[in-house]
Amino acid sequence: MKDPIAREGLRPKFWERVPLKNLTPREWEALCDGCGKCCLNKLEDPDTAEIAFTRVACRLLDDETCHCAQYEIRKQFVPECVVLTPKNIGDIAYWMPSTCAYRLLYEGKALYDWHPLISGDPETVHEAGVSVRGWTVPEFEVDEDEWEDHIIEGDL
Ligand code: SF4
Ligand code: SF4
Repeated sequence: MKDPIAREGLRPKFWERVPLKNLTPREWEALCDGCGKCCLNKLEDPDTAEIAFTRVACRLLDDETCHCAQYEIRKQFVPECVVLTPKNIGDIAYWMPSTCAYRLLYEGKALYDWHPLISGDPETVHEAGVSVRGWTVPEFEVDEDEWEDHIIEGDL
């Protein structure tokens, strides 16, 4: 399957050598592993501020490709979609999935072998069972007050 994220012509192993703030926009985009987990709706416990992911996916998430159906113009449809940048990663990393490449690098950790930048294959994130492929429910099928019934237990 063709990689929906452009990863050609980038500096070799830039994710190991270049600080996040010095990445080019294309390198920044190529860091995404395509897991789709950040497009799951989350619930925050008002008392503990703990974040829980649910299986309920954003209306634009394609459950097969795990990509946004309107990535370039997504804000027109989902104004609340957060655009991750080198500037805001510090505020956002704590609620990103623990396998997210942006979070891993921000925390000084290495990418996993299944990351398409390392494997050279966009399917490996799905084969490793790290993506949301095939197990989300669309948000238009679940009322917001029922999201709690779809909370995912454990780490994502
Ligand atoms: S969780 Fe991180 S790596 Fe996965 S799709 Fe979202 S931004 Fe990309
Ligand atoms: S608008 Fe697109 S990128 Fe943003 S959360 Fe929804 S599916 Fe994900």
